Amino acid sequence: MDIKDYRYVLIPNILEKFRCSMCGECCESKWRIDIDEKSYQAVKERLEENKEDVSTYIEQNENGNYVVKFDGKYCKFITDDIKCRIHRDFGWECLSDTCKIYPRNMRLTSRGMEIGLGFSCGSVAKLLLTDEKVSIKKIKKEDYFFMTPRDISFIIPENNLKTAVNSRYYEVEEMAIEILNQEKDLFTKLSYLERILAGLENVADVRECNFKEVIEGLDDFTIENPYTEEYLVDEIIKAIMKKSERSESVAEYYRSLLKITSLSGDIKKDRKFLSWSGYNLYSERLKELKALWNSKWDKILQRYFQCYIFNKEIYDNSEYFMFKTTISMVMIKLRMLLTIKYLGRELTEDEVIAAIKGYENDFSHDGDYFSEYYKQKYENKEDIKEATRKLLLMFK
Ligand code: SF4
Repeated sequence: MDIKDYRYVLIPNILEKFRCSMCGECCESKWRIDIDEKSYQAVKERLEENKEDVSTYIEQNENGNYVVKFDGKYCKFITDDIKCRIHRDFGWECLSDTCKIYPRNMRLTSRGMEIGLGFSCGSVAKLLLTDEKVSIKKIKKEDYFFMTPRDISFIIPENNLKTAVNSRYYEVEEMAIEILNQEKDLFTKLSYLERILAGLENVADVRECNFKEVIEGLDDFTIENPYTEEYLVDEIIKAIMKKSERSESVAEYYRSLLKITSLSGDIKKDRKFLSWSGYNLYSERLKELKALWNSKWDKILQRYFQCYIFNKEIYDNSEYFMFKTTISMVMIKLRMLLTIKYLGRELTEDEVIAAIKGYENDFSHDGDYFSEYYKQKYENKEDIKEATRKLLLMFK
């Protein structure tokens, strides 16, 4: 099967309402902004016509890729009235794919153009606050504004062996979303999904799978998680330490929050404690923090997870998908818990959005963090499914 034409756009229903709020945040210096070769050449030409040098705005990083330069807070192309100069003066077609597409991520599949959205954008993160159940919505191409990137990945499940799980990939994806839509506690749903995805790896012939029955199986599913908060603490600290290899400031943010929320008020003791560079996290403390959780926020984490299911990472590797997404939710929840502890009150919706966005900026935009961490665990012969099960305890 091939993709010759596509008439539909598929998008998680809760994300369909996304509209850019023109806040200009995506042009800030907090992340790397890539400029592809075509855009680079087009912008260079236009700037030269104006007797300007492209190197004022764009540089090559250590990997030889073009990236924008920043002028303090913003990309150098930002004008005083927070408009993109490339867009305004040279035309939208001169923008790089990164700038045209963000916060969307797109894939061309045999179902149509599939569009997911990144939660580092506040307008997207806000959409997680809905009460709606998540489903995949199919809309006519002409009814949804989007632009096709120059480089796009293709997914055609039907081209797999008929006995292989990925030949029924869309059903796997819908099943996973549906399991999470059920009215059960988040820990049970995530644990069930984790077991189901692990089990699918061993199915000899996927044609025999009845996904409707699998969803119904959740009704009778109970699980004893043999792990305690002690194991969970270990996994959290390992994740932060891995992050510190790539960005000490992000790791320091978590360490500082852990410290600042456990100050005793005794100046002498606290001074000593603040100069210590360790992690103030242990099982009893984590239990206390978890007790601050308001279960209404579980729905946000659930929707976050469901939107990531749509990103096709189960297609590549379900173990990696579960590991990555579970760490993500653990770190978002930890960030929220520490903020509650720090403020001494329940979070407002804006503070929840800030926690999600902050996490996404720090971790998801560090493209290789998860793959390197996964690879490292894999090379150390760690049991990654077990690590995921330990992390799942955060939701119990
Ligand atoms: S090139 Fe334009 S759209 Fe891209 S980051 Fe800079 S100002 Fe923003």
